Amino acid sequence: MVQLSRHHVEIDGRPLHVTLRRSARARRVQIRINPEPCSVTLVVPAHCASGLAWEFFDTHRGWIARRLARQAPLVPLRAGAEIPFAGEPHIIVHTPNMRGVVERRDGRIHVSGEAAHLGRRLEDWLKAEARQSLRAAATTHAAAFGKRPGRITVRDPKTRWGACTTAGNLSFSWRLILAPAAILDYVAAHEAAHLVEMNHSPAFWRLVRSRIDDTEAADRWLRDEGASLHRYRHEAGMPHPDNPPPADRA
Ligand SMILES: [Zn+2]
Repeated sequence: MVQLSRHHVEIDGRPLHVTLRRSARARRVQIRINPEPCSVTLVVPAHCASGLAWEFFDTHRGWIARRLARQAPLVPLRAGAEIPFAGEPHIIVHTPNMRGVVERRDGRIHVSGEAAHLGRRLEDWLKAEARQSLRAAATTHAAAFGKRPGRITVRDPKTRWGACTTAGNLSFSWRLILAPAAILDYVAAHEAAHLVEMNHSPAFWRLVRSRIDDTEAADRWLRDEGASLHRYRHEAGMPHPDNPPPADRA
């Protein structure tokens, strides 16, 4: 069983999410830098006291700070910020009196309503756009494989882009809507192919390659650029030091 607890700490005055994960398999305490900015996972062996894990964390603060300094900074979803949509840069514009909620045209994404809710409203819209694009792509690829997916949902996982359950339900990261369209299409085809082959066998890759020209380029893009998709978030979703590690650290 995996136990998780989340904490907020500061490193060099910058807030940091720490997820403490109990692992039956881990033999020693480990620190993993997550693709999501300002976020690390502290992996703790099942029988190790959490106080020891936090001591390990404290002695590695310098190392963590150096690793985080190399990450690109977070981009809050607010007016004037630039975000990619289907791989193309777009400027966020606050247009309070527009009739619709969000409108994308000519390299701009207009968001109506109160400025205070702009980020949340934009993220909701991006999720809806992602759901629509991923549903269309996954359904088309699955049909080519003679399958029909079950439920298709979008989430915000830290490390995965898509998943397929044995029941045939697909889930995806909504952040794929920010990536070039070919990348979203590849992840949709990849998960749809898992409806036939629940593995990464040669037969699985034959299916994916029957739909996608250059799967290696897409995988490479996700490996090299994927983490950058985690930079964009509305302010309420930013790390905040409201849940520090337990004071007694026992
Ligand atoms: Zn896979």
